[in-house]
Amino acid sequence: MAVNIEKYKEISTDLTGKKVTLVAVSKTKPNEDIQALYDLGQRDFGENYVQELVDKHAVLPKDIHWHFIGHLQTNKIKYIAPFVHLIHGVDSLKLLQEINKQAAKSGRIIDCLLQVHIAQEETEFGMDEAELEVARSAMAELSNVHIVGMMGMASFSDDPKKVRGEFHYLKTLYTKYGELRILSMGMSGDYTIAIEEGSTMVRIGSLLFGARN
Ligand SMILES: *Cc1c(COP(=O)(O)O)cnc(C)c1O
Repeated sequence: MAVNIEKYKEISTDLTGKKVTLVAVSKTKPNEDIQALYDLGQRDFGENYVQELVDKHAVLPKDIHWHFIGHLQTNKIKYIAPFVHLIHGVDSLKLLQEINKQAAKSGRIIDCLLQVHIAQEETEFGMDEAELEVARSAMAELSNVHIVGMMGMASFSDDPKKVRGEFHYLKTLYTKYGELRILSMGMSGDYTIAIEEGSTMVRIGSLLFGARN
């Protein structure tokens, strides 16, 4: 097993002290790796692929909070709507409307994060400021989704100043939007900077589970 238990304990203790939620990103990793962290008290896990998430949800403990952090296709929302805890990557009004529809069918209200495009270099998913406002105005008619925060991914850059600047920008938008409680930013390589810039939730995979193929 490639789970780094010591690293998990170290990060988890550090983040608890800082009141930052750790989402353990378990995509492509086997169930026993997830169970190992679950047994140490971890409850929030993040997945990128719908089928993989559905399969894992079916067999792993029912009190796990499953976060969908990948790019969600509208035709697949129905598979995760009955149980997903938080959808991080909502990057269009259309997606938000479809989640609302599927959430209603499941009799649920689904918490969502608006994904914001912050990386300068990468072509990447995410809304700009204008699209955030469009999403905000649409909320009055969407009673089965709650926008509870924002999510962003910084450039894969070895220039910490650049990464910091991108997280800083996201924090500014988050504050300006108002009435939000989750700012999901920071991964294995940049989570310490993200926390310094105001992250309340980090998504960490390879540091805990080892590199992915
Ligand atoms: C895979 C993934 C992560 C985790 O990345 P690591 O670098 O392994 O920590 C975080 N966020 C998103 C959106 C991802 O797709």
